[in-house]
Amino acid sequence: MRRGRFAPTPSGLLHIGNAFAALAAWLQMRQCGGTIALRMEDIDKARSRASFAEQILDDLRWLGLDWDEGPREGGSYAPYVQSAREPIYEEALEKLREAGHLYPCYCSRSDLATLASAPHGLASEGAAYPGFCRALTDEERIAKGALKSPSQRFVMPARAIAFRDGWRGTQSFEGSALGDFVVKRADGMFSYQLAVVVDDAAMGITDVLRGADLLDSTPRQLALYDALGLQAPEFSHIPLLADETGARLSKRDKSLTLASLRENGVAPERLLGLLAAMAGWIDRPEPVGVRELMPLFKPVSEERLVFGGDLRTWLLQ
Ligand code: GLU
Repeated sequence: MRRGRFAPTPSGLLHIGNAFAALAAWLQMRQCGGTIALRMEDIDKARSRASFAEQILDDLRWLGLDWDEGPREGGSYAPYVQSAREPIYEEALEKLREAGHLYPCYCSRSDLATLASAPHGLASEGAAYPGFCRALTDEERIAKGALKSPSQRFVMPARAIAFRDGWRGTQSFEGSALGDFVVKRADGMFSYQLAVVVDDAAMGITDVLRGADLLDSTPRQLALYDALGLQAPEFSHIPLLADETGARLSKRDKSLTLASLRENGVAPERLLGLLAAMAGWIDRPEPVGVRELMPLFKPVSEERLVFGGDLRTWLLQ
């Protein structure tokens, strides 16, 4: 039985880009008779809000998507909320530590100007941790540890990490070029990379379909699956929706959130129809019946699907 998932982060409202990825994951599982789990990724307590989590669930339902297991429905892999799953992240961390895959890192955020732990963070745009703390001597660790509590970094293997992406075909990354990444922050927060791997494995997820912004998280996650002796799912990374300038949609642009479209009177089936046409487009360029929508969006690359400025007007017609 195939199992897919939606994994929203409740640090803001859902926008149509998030809804597009959710619909694509929904189509993938509903086409093959698989199961869908919804997991709320609220591991970052400072940025997550319970009100966003509730609104996200309502927005997805409003759009017409459904799922089989989740925070409200329960299911055999409960809890479906990351903040309630910390004990299993701690277990995985111990396992990694015992097998020698971790080291304490004393670099501060400002030392580095980047952190490789957050999804869609600076790290996914390029900068890799240069490994300052990897080769500290025991004495140096003791001296630094007296001043500051460390984060825990995972040692990326120095080898090519390849996988077959369900949408983009074979992808290959050089592990060491991605840099060692944080699995637990100095303040005790587990990173997205660790939590998502532990959860997808524990929930028996076989298919992960998500936006292209997480493509370079996948080799990091595959290295974790390997180090933890877990079976990795199949991955597919689909293009992100972008505005007329080519910039991806941001949570900060409120006008394309589902909540705002609904308040402005957009019918859910009109939005769903548009997103489904886009999903049809990325599946097979120029599918029949969507020609009238073409001026509204065009694929520019494997990473971006750009739509025109009159999208809102079209949705409101
Ligand atoms: N929670 C992540 C997000 O909101 C998605 C994680 C994933 O799909 O692996 O972008």
